[in-house]
Parts: sequence; structure tokens; C-alpha cells
Amino acid sequence: MLTRDDLLDLFRRSGALLDGHFRLSSGLHSGGYLQCALVLQHPEHAEALGRAIAAAVRPLRPSVVLSPALGGVVVGQEVGRALGVRAIFAERQDGVLTLRRGFVLGETDRVLVVEDVITTGGSTRETMQVARAAGAYVVGAASIVDRSGGRAAFNMPCHSLLALDLPTYQPDACPLCAKGLPVVKPGSRPVVA
Ligand SMILES: [Zn+2]
Repeated sequence: MLTRDDLLDLFRRSGALLDGHFRLSSGLHSGGYLQCALVLQHPEHAEALGRAIAAAVRPLRPSVVLSPALGGVVVGQEVGRALGVRAIFAERQDGVLTLRRGFVLGETDRVLVVEDVITTGGSTRETMQVARAAGAYVVGAASIVDRSGGRAAFNMPCHSLLALDLPTYQPDACPLCAKGLPVVKPGSRPVVA
């Protein structure tokens, strides 16, 4: 089984989790930066993470995995592979998350919503709504990382492999700026493995 230390090590080695002083695209500053795609770019890691999620959610007996594009697609595929069930995704059309490409859900489907990262829980909730609107039953949600600090509550089973709290700060109230540490944009310099 993957321990918290295993996961943190995996994320750090692949550059998916950086420690430092960052200016995020929102303009906020943070001492940590997370980009799950950088761990999922390695198929063997994606597969291992998918297997770990599958082991935790198997008792929910999902019959299909539904992920919001793009972030949830790769890990959703791997969870589906490990469970031996379909893995489909919802994507935005005119701003609304929707099933396209002929993907179908019906009332016999037990849907597990899978994401890479749960931040506020908003997109997980929206994805659940897509499944319910199609008449399916939602059995729960899962993600690789939960950075909601426990604030994303779904009133149903939700399993995340790794809880991560990465505080963000307004630049004028940033303790790292106060220490005089130079701020960088994530990805603007090579990551040392
Ligand atoms: Zn700062």
C-alpha cells in the first residue's frame, strides 16, 4: 500500500510537488506548488495511483468511473482499469459540464467520480450532477489529492490518497515575502529531481 511518505516522495521526485515560494496563476503566493499531471505523465505511476484508489473504493461496487476533463481523465482511466469497469469523462460545452462522444449513463449504473485533485469540491459536485441527471446512481468520489483541508463535504463516501494543505497568501501578506525569499513562477526553472 502507498503510505503518505511514499506519495509525497513520488510527487516530489516527479516535480509534481514543489517546495519554495511561488506566484500562482491566480496572483496569490504559496510555499508549495502541486501539478498532478507531472506524476501522471509516468504511466507506471498513474497505474499505481489508480490501483490504490481502486483498492479503497472497491467496496462501493462502482460499475463505471466518471471524471471531469481534463484533470480527471488519466487517473479515471487507471481507476477504471484496476476495477475492471468503464472509464468515461464529462467535458465542458458552452461552460456546462456534459457527457459527449456518445458516452451513456443509465439507471443501472453505479458511478464513482474520480478527479486528480479536489480543491473546493465544486467540480466533483458538478460531475456527480452530470451522472444523476443521466439517471445514474452516484456511489461516491475519489481523488489522488484532497487539498480542501476537509472542507469539501459530499454527504457520501469520498476517498483521497493524500490530504495536502498548501496555504496561499495575498502578496502583501505573504510570510515568505516578509522573509525576503525570491518568488518564482512554477515551472519557470528546471526542477532538480
Ligand atoms: Zn510571497
